[in-house]
Amino acid sequence: SIRVRFAPSPTGMFHVGGARSALFNWVIARQSGGVLVLRIEDTDASRNSPEWTAGIIRALAWLGMDDEQYEGPYFQSAGADKHQEAVRRLLEQGRAYYCGCTRDDVMTRTGDSHKGYDGFCRDRDLGPGEGRAVRFRTPDEGKTTVVDLIRGEPIFENALLEDFVIARANGSVPFLLANAVDDIEQGITHVVRGEEHLPNAPKQQLLWDALGAEPPIWAHVPVIVNEKRQKLSKRRDKVALEDYQAEGYLAEAMRNYLMLLGWAPSGDREIVPWDVIESEFRLENVNASPAFFDVKKLRAINGEYIRALPIERFVEECGPWLRDAPWEADAGVFARLAPLAQTRLAVLSEITELVDFAFLDEPVFDEASWAKGMKGPAAEILAAAEEAYRDAPWRAEELKDRLERVGTAHGLKLGKAQAPVRVAVTGRTVGLPLFESLEIIGRDATLARIAAART
Ligand code: GLU
Repeated sequence: SIRVRFAPSPTGMFHVGGARSALFNWVIARQSGGVLVLRIEDTDASRNSPEWTAGIIRALAWLGMDDEQYEGPYFQSAGADKHQEAVRRLLEQGRAYYCGCTRDDVMTRTGDSHKGYDGFCRDRDLGPGEGRAVRFRTPDEGKTTVVDLIRGEPIFENALLEDFVIARANGSVPFLLANAVDDIEQGITHVVRGEEHLPNAPKQQLLWDALGAEPPIWAHVPVIVNEKRQKLSKRRDKVALEDYQAEGYLAEAMRNYLMLLGWAPSGDREIVPWDVIESEFRLENVNASPAFFDVKKLRAINGEYIRALPIERFVEECGPWLRDAPWEADAGVFARLAPLAQTRLAVLSEITELVDFAFLDEPVFDEASWAKGMKGPAAEILAAAEEAYRDAPWRAEELKDRLERVGTAHGLKLGKAQAPVRVAVTGRTVGLPLFESLEIIGRDATLARIAAART
């Protein structure tokens, strides 16, 4: 059965691209009742931190991946003995050799650092020693064909693959070796990872062969780009999964959207129930060309997911934002506002500005909204509304009818007549349905705000 792995290096905030790779792996593990191994590739001590590792684990759990398919986390650093053992075996078999060249030596000889290693120590038969690394001897001829479910069968000329380092002079092992040894050790059948690793695949496949293992099936998933077709980067783009979570994207919307980065379900749709994704997804159908991370589309999808939530769950999901707000949200009042708000959000963090008026002693006005709401006959409308509302039965429908009549008396349609009232009561020109909002905050607050706006 299928054994896949997700093997992040904990060197920063967990990236949406990493989350997409993890999901692709997870889905194929689930389809076959296989296993997804989480392997933290923490061998670069200078760049790792436990905090990044914790962030990865939290993020995968948030996306729902910590289920029965999931094994780990394993830490690559714990496998150092196996890595050293593999280097010894390759040396014994003559598949690797000691090399005493420095980078400068190679540069001086080749005149060009991009050419890679020139094979100087290949046949010098050096033993171990100070300043000596170990290099893998790549074949001089022939080709290495990697079977890649997304890219067909890319063929690499062995003669163009340099003799790469598998143990540094200080004894530590680089990514190429540690990653291949761990994959073999963990019985990995499919390596699904980012496109940037495609050039590593032939080198790693040679290692699998040399270590006596049947190479895996590869799938290099497409790079993710922004609207300028630039590779997503943490300097320019919002890439941390946690930042999306903090803005109020739902895990199920995020999961759905991330699956669309390089893959499309049947029927030209975007909102797809997870069980459909799981039954339809095939690595073979993933597109090799760059995938556009479309934040607008993500927002739209998230809005759909928010609207589809049962109201109790919506209320619960709003909890963290309400708790962080600088005012106290009365639960009873919020329960009445929630259904009005649920259809008007793209991300949950927007909840606070939609409902703050109901919990503040007085609304927060910004100049632009004030200017927009209070133009024309606003003062007369407010005076007439105050009058009309003083003894009105306090129901939305009634409040609407009365304001409609006020408008008619001033030659205004309801939409125009309602603007100054909305700004007076909520501080903004757009927001929740006005008359329901007035019903909820009550007569006293409504009249007080209209009066305050008139002075
Ligand atoms: N640690 C590597 C990375 O984060 C893993 C590459 C792989 O999946 O083989 O890029």
